[in-house]
Amino acid sequence: DKLKESKVYMRALFDYNPLDDKATPCQEAGLPFKPGDILQVVSQDDGTWWQAKKVGDSNLRAGLIPSKQFQESLELPELLIEGVKSCWGLATGLRRSFRLSRKDRQGSSGEANASEPGEPEFLTYEEVTRYQQRPNERPRLVVLIGSLGARINELKQKVIAENPHRYAVAVPHTTRPKKSHEKEGVEYHFVTKQAFDADAQNNKFIEYGEYKENQYGTSIEAIRSVQAKNKMCLVDVQPEALHTLRTGEFKPYVVFVKPRIPESRRRRSAATSPEEELQEMRQSAQQIEQQYGHLVDRVLIKEDSASACAELRGILERLEREAFWVPISWIR
Ligand code: 5GP
Repeated sequence: DKLKESKVYMRALFDYNPLDDKATPCQEAGLPFKPGDILQVVSQDDGTWWQAKKVGDSNLRAGLIPSKQFQESLELPELLIEGVKSCWGLATGLRRSFRLSRKDRQGSSGEANASEPGEPEFLTYEEVTRYQQRPNERPRLVVLIGSLGARINELKQKVIAENPHRYAVAVPHTTRPKKSHEKEGVEYHFVTKQAFDADAQNNKFIEYGEYKENQYGTSIEAIRSVQAKNKMCLVDVQPEALHTLRTGEFKPYVVFVKPRIPESRRRRSAATSPEEELQEMRQSAQQIEQQYGHLVDRVLIKEDSASACAELRGILERLEREAFWVPISWIR
């Protein structure tokens, strides 16, 4: 057989279980997948049902998945015209990949992205390709997001302190006065309140916030300046910042740090947090998974600070040596 191997790869952005899909011509032939799975699309001959394999799956047979067009066509009516839902009786209620894109984009950075309200965004598939950073290229940005209790800032600082020649933070801006031991551009860029507000207005920050009546924020330029020194820049941000950072310029590699949360009451030691606290941690992790799981390249389950540091160090080293899946739009 001289079948040409398909070169079309898609990252799944939604959860699909053929057994729940009443529209499929054959449930047994369906290929289940989760957000973030990489699918090799071996046939797009049919406009409605593609044939695909899951990358890394030992199963060599292709299965049916809904085509991008089909998945999108069923989303819009479902959400916009609630009343006619029944006309689309086929698979409504099962295709939940549609979201209003701007709604969750207004985190600490306020109105930064509010210019195109309500523009629909379909979370179906994203075409991806293997990408390996070449030695002469700008190192990829590493974005840490964490759920409650993950302490990603501490993790970031430790990994950088171990290897300051290769990794660095983006130096933040602040409106607080400089302390005598501090140097402009090292700990912070010290700026006036007016300058800070102007930068914020002009979308210069990936995020900002207030602490004890002073403003703090990290600028896009601060990331560029680390990368210009050929160092890998690590940022820890609220997940909303991903909407700004996910560009071909930064090619962010997103690590979601999630503390290991004990199952329930069993094996409880004196040091274990009260049940309500654990419940909040679970909810926080779940919320990030639901809203941002499809943008995460790697989940790091944090047992303790030392092992999480070692794992993150390993991830960063591989990032410089190996190829990873990135949206094809970042390369073109
Ligand atoms: P300090 O003034 O002691 O250097 O920093 C006080 C606090 O400011 C930090 O603990 C942190 O919570 C906050 N902070 C520092 N840098 C940033 C930043 O880039 N963005 C935000 N939102 N907060 C920051």
